[in-house]
Amino acid sequence: MRSSTEKAKETAKRELKAEPLESVIDKMITENYDRSKQSVERERFFEIPDKMVMFYKYSYGQQSRFFSELQKNKALYGSKCKGCGMVYFPPRSRCSECYSDTEWVRVKDEGTVVSSTTSWYATSEFFDKVPYAVGYVKPLDADTAMLQRIDLKSSEFVEPGTPVIARFKEKRIGVVSDFWYEVKE
Ligand SMILES: [Zn+2]
Repeated sequence: MRSSTEKAKETAKRELKAEPLESVIDKMITENYDRSKQSVERERFFEIPDKMVMFYKYSYGQQSRFFSELQKNKALYGSKCKGCGMVYFPPRSRCSECYSDTEWVRVKDEGTVVSSTTSWYATSEFFDKVPYAVGYVKPLDADTAMLQRIDLKSSEFVEPGTPVIARFKEKRIGVVSDFWYEVKE
């Protein structure tokens, strides 16, 4: 006499043979679709707005030292090519001129404006700064420039070549807005 388990196995085998797997899946999708449609038609679901808060960390990878020096020491760091001596700000791990590795170097807080535009709009963090300039600033001892906010004092624009100096937030969290430039007067 066959056990009930064996019987069940045989039934399953027969059913699988009779019906290819693809059509079983098709049927499941159709059934689920019909079921969800029916339930939606049967009753309207009550929804309320809610929020989801997520805490997470992300890594600055090879750019880490730029942000850690900024946060901990109010220091601006660029990188210097070991081959040709080019100083990059913001830092690069490899030189785009000669492809050599670079090393970290501190750059001066003083710099000059390469180009800039004035912004009359801002996100909430910068409402009280409007109008302010956003421009490329090249530290005095670097060869490239970085895009950063430039506070305006007496004028609504900053010309290329204007000397600026870096200022740092008292409470720094390791983001690029921990510092900005202002026109040196
Ligand atoms: Zn180089």
